[in-house]
Amino acid sequence: MFQVLRRRQSGYGASATDFKFQGWILDLLFPIQCLSCSQEGEFICSNCLGKISLNHSIFYPKNSSLSGLLVVGSYRDPLLKEAIHKYKYDFIKDLAEPLAGLMIKKINDCPWFKENNALLVPVPLHKKRLRWRGFNQSELLCLEINKSLNIPLINNFLIRTKHNLAQVKIKNTEQRKTNIKNTFQINLKNQIEFKNKIIILIDDVLTTGATLEECAKTLKKAGLKEIWGLVLARG
Ligand SMILES: [Zn+2]
Repeated sequence: MFQVLRRRQSGYGASATDFKFQGWILDLLFPIQCLSCSQEGEFICSNCLGKISLNHSIFYPKNSSLSGLLVVGSYRDPLLKEAIHKYKYDFIKDLAEPLAGLMIKKINDCPWFKENNALLVPVPLHKKRLRWRGFNQSELLCLEINKSLNIPLINNFLIRTKHNLAQVKIKNTEQRKTNIKNTFQINLKNQIEFKNKIIILIDDVLTTGATLEECAKTLKKAGLKEIWGLVLARG
């Protein structure tokens, strides 16, 4: 009930004043609580956020269009898993901020991003899925990172032209690769001088890596030199 109401709050057809009033009523009836310790005020309190253990490894996938892959934490961490699930499937957009906070720590561990004027690119959603969810979860993460670190966000550069079956519904690795093949294109209207920059491709969860790989392949074909993947967890 709570999540349904929260989603409606971000829907269309009402004024900003209506939203503020609805938000105030919702906060009163259903105060926001930390997913882990139930402390009121935030979906993940700073104390619990600090307890999510970060993965400090850097992965260098073989035979890949990705130069490197950064995975923030483990899907076995119950709080991280629940937060990602509530963000994606219960549409709690406010979780973008703490989740992006974890990604920011990871980016700060990699000085070459700042040194090379990196750019953020979210894994795009097809417009039908965007309409269903109401937001692109990867794009909101990018916006939060952009707000904190001032790394430019290049939106609508990589576009999803095929509305295919959600990867999460396919268990087989090869079938996932086939499903995602030729799904992305570069929006040529937005193609400006990105070619010598490092791209940080942002997605929520990595399972087989087929989606990130297909995005990276598309960006490489467009002439981009160095593409890194950054995800919250490995599913
Ligand atoms: Zn807490």
